[in-house]
Amino acid sequence: MSQTRKQSGTDGRQAWSFRVATIVGIPIRIHFTFILFLAWIGLSGGSSGGASMSILVAAIFVCVLLHELGHALVAKKLGVLTRDITLYPIGGVAMLDSKPTPPQELKISLAGPAVNLVLAVLFFVYTQATHSLVPVKGGLQSVSLPQALLIANLTLAVFNMIPAFPMDGGRVLRAALGLRLSEARSTQIAGGIGQALAVMLGIVGLFTQGYVLMLIAFFVFVGASQEIQATVARSILHGHILSDVMQTSFETIASGASLQSAANRVIHGTQRDFPVTNGDEVLGILTRSQLALGLATDGETAYVAGWMERKFKSANAEMPLEEAVELFTQSDTAPVLVFEEERLIGMASLENISQFVMLEHAKSRGHAGPG
Ligand SMILES: [Zn+2]
Repeated sequence: MSQTRKQSGTDGRQAWSFRVATIVGIPIRIHFTFILFLAWIGLSGGSSGGASMSILVAAIFVCVLLHELGHALVAKKLGVLTRDITLYPIGGVAMLDSKPTPPQELKISLAGPAVNLVLAVLFFVYTQATHSLVPVKGGLQSVSLPQALLIANLTLAVFNMIPAFPMDGGRVLRAALGLRLSEARSTQIAGGIGQALAVMLGIVGLFTQGYVLMLIAFFVFVGASQEIQATVARSILHGHILSDVMQTSFETIASGASLQSAANRVIHGTQRDFPVTNGDEVLGILTRSQLALGLATDGETAYVAGWMERKFKSANAEMPLEEAVELFTQSDTAPVLVFEEERLIGMASLENISQFVMLEHAKSRGHAGPG
């Protein structure tokens, strides 16, 4: 259905999908919901219809896979690598490793639907040659497999060219807008159209009790929203370094201090995590949760040195922010200690980064107003 870029942070997708093949060096993964989907179709169709329906769905997904490979191969030709391709019940996603420029994105996005158009022409020629093109009546049951695939590929090409995120057409639109507008603005426009479309689809689905339509509407809405957020955040982070967001007013605590003195600072100040020092040397970090654990276990007179985390995250003040966000994962949100020539000059948490994004976004919205 679409190609997307690697998002920063944790990668939860992989837990729910497994690799089934590797094509031209690109891992092909199948999401477990897709297997459930195939099984559901197989079972719900009964003993006779279910099997042929499963074959048709599997064949359509081969076409979806070819669509994604279309994206991936054109991307490869342009020097953009694809990390993997994952198949979901509502389509496939080719995960690109880096960010294409607008002209690259234009070509990469068009490649997928182009594959489906070529396949549609091939199936059309085949059905013509074998005279199996008969008028469609009574739904999919009465059409042959090549005919059904002709229709499916035409649908895939048309559906994906809808100019709204997260469809390929939305990327084409963004790339075209990106030639004149900023990436964030282009994404907001293409994403906004996607969200509006999703709401309309959802309403139609609600009134016609079309559950598949409602499901698609949900995925389109979520996909569009995520793309807007990620792009806006990334465009704000772009060009900034860690020292732009780090806290510079912070306290350190001596390794020989007591846990009670650390507790007092947490209570009477706003800082939650403290770099632990011995003279000029940074030994570790005392987080609030470790402090609480230490107080509960060893009492208030215990030394900070005994409860600090010796393994702490550190980074150079010059580190680009796009790289720095990768240091924070869902399981490890502890602050990063920022050094400049071996000297501790700041601390940065995910909160610092999100505040920075929020305030910079507010500034850019101010500029984007009328006039
Ligand atoms: Zn696509």
